Amino acid sequence: MKLIVLFGKPGAGKGTQAAFLKDKYNLCHISTGDIFRFNIKNETELGKKAQEYINQGQLVPDSLTINMLKSEVEKNMDKAGFLFDGFPRTIAQAEALDEFLSSINLEVTGTVGLEAEDDVLVARILERGKTSGRADDQDEAKIRTRYVEYNEKTAPLIDFYKAQNKYHAVNGIGSIEEITERLSKVIDNL
Ligand code: AMP
Repeated sequence: MKLIVLFGKPGAGKGTQAAFLKDKYNLCHISTGDIFRFNIKNETELGKKAQEYINQGQLVPDSLTINMLKSEVEKNMDKAGFLFDGFPRTIAQAEALDEFLSSINLEVTGTVGLEAEDDVLVARILERGKTSGRADDQDEAKIRTRYVEYNEKTAPLIDFYKAQNKYHAVNGIGSIEEITERLSKVIDNL
C-alpha cells in the first residue's frame, strides 16, 4: 500500500496535483483542508470548532485534526493507498500519524514537497481568492499568517522526514503537467 504525503506551502499546488495523482496511482485523496471546509459548510460540530482558526489563517488544534484524519483513514481501508494533502502540518501530527499507522501495520511510504518562493505563492493565492470564495485566500494579512504558521510549525517536518529518508523535494514552479511529471518520477520510485 502506498502512503504518500504531499507537502507544500499554501498555494504551492498541492490540491491541483493531488487531483491528478489520486487517479494516476489509484489513491484515496485525503485533504484535511477540504474536510474542514466541508464540515464548515454543513455546520457540523467539528466545522464550528475549526472555522475561526481557518478564517484567521491559523492551524486547527492537533487533537481535532488528528482524530479527523484517523477516522478518514479507517473509513477507506479498502483503498489501494493514500495521498495525504495538508496533513501532517505539525511534528505532533506526524508523530501521531506514525503511531497510528504502525498500529495498523502501515507506514508512510514517502513524502514529496512542492517547493516555491513565498512571493510567487502569495500572488497565486490572491488570484485564487477571486474565485475560491475562501476567506483565508482573500486577505493578505491572513495569507501571511498561514506562512508564519507554515514556517514555525510545518517546515520542521522536512527534517523529521529527512531523518527517516522519506523526504523528496520537487520544484513547484512550472506548468501543471510538468509538475505532475516531476512528482510522478518520485512516486514511481517509492
Ligand atoms: P488547506 O486547504 O490545506 O490550505 O487548509 C486550509 C486551512 O485548514 C489551514 O490554513 C488550516 O487552518 C486548516 N488545516 C488544514 N489542514 C490542517 C492540519 N493538518 N492541521 C491544522 N490545520 C489544518
